[in-house]
Amino acid sequence: MDKKRIALFGGTFDPIHLGHTGVSKSSFEKTGADKLLFIPARQVALKANSPVVSDHHRQKMIELAIADFNGFEVSDYELTKPAPAYTLDTVLCFKEKFGPQAELYWLIGADCVEDLPRWYKIEQLIDQCRLCTMYRTGYNKPNFDKFADLWGIERVRKLQENIIETPLIDISSSELRQRLAAGRDVSDMLDGKVLNYIKENHLYGC
Ligand code: ATP
Repeated sequence: MDKKRIALFGGTFDPIHLGHTGVSKSSFEKTGADKLLFIPARQVALKANSPVVSDHHRQKMIELAIADFNGFEVSDYELTKPAPAYTLDTVLCFKEKFGPQAELYWLIGADCVEDLPRWYKIEQLIDQCRLCTMYRTGYNKPNFDKFADLWGIERVRKLQENIIETPLIDISSSELRQRLAAGRDVSDMLDGKVLNYIKENHLYGC
């Protein structure tokens, strides 16, 4: 029997934009996943790079953005976990939850590649799931050959096999936040329901 394929997509989603939904939809189709879970990261007080808006608002915006996508769901796993959530811990938790009949895919954008050597227990993470790298505008086409000495040839082969050629969508949350704060038009960068939510709740200086 084929294993059930579960794609996990972590991030701050501050806010979720059409880049997130576009590449995740493409990855969902290309991997033949049965389910895709968005896993927003928790807001940590006084920490650099911590999300600007609350966990509650970011989760709500994800729900609005994926409402029309069959098979897409949002998980509050990292939001409700007291300790810092490392990707490996999250993957291990979902492995246990879905059991041996599931194969887990963890999605990252190409902007994460250079940072991977600093990720918590990265070698175990590569071993425990299919770490899938999606294309991203402004970043090189993903390639892991240079990490062979660090992680070994087998891990590099696995990473290379799991590169997903997603469409290039030139949108980032940081640019969106800047535009919102400056009162500029962002209607082509995010879902209309998410934009309404941002305006109604006066988020990002709106
Ligand atoms: P910021 O601009 O604040 O850094 P972001 O737009 O990169 O935010 P995140 O929530 O940090 O959004 O990203 C979550 C995941 O989605 C990361 O793995 C990131 O690489 C990926 N990602 C985000 N936007 C895109 C995009 N336009 N194309 C491909 N991958 C993306």
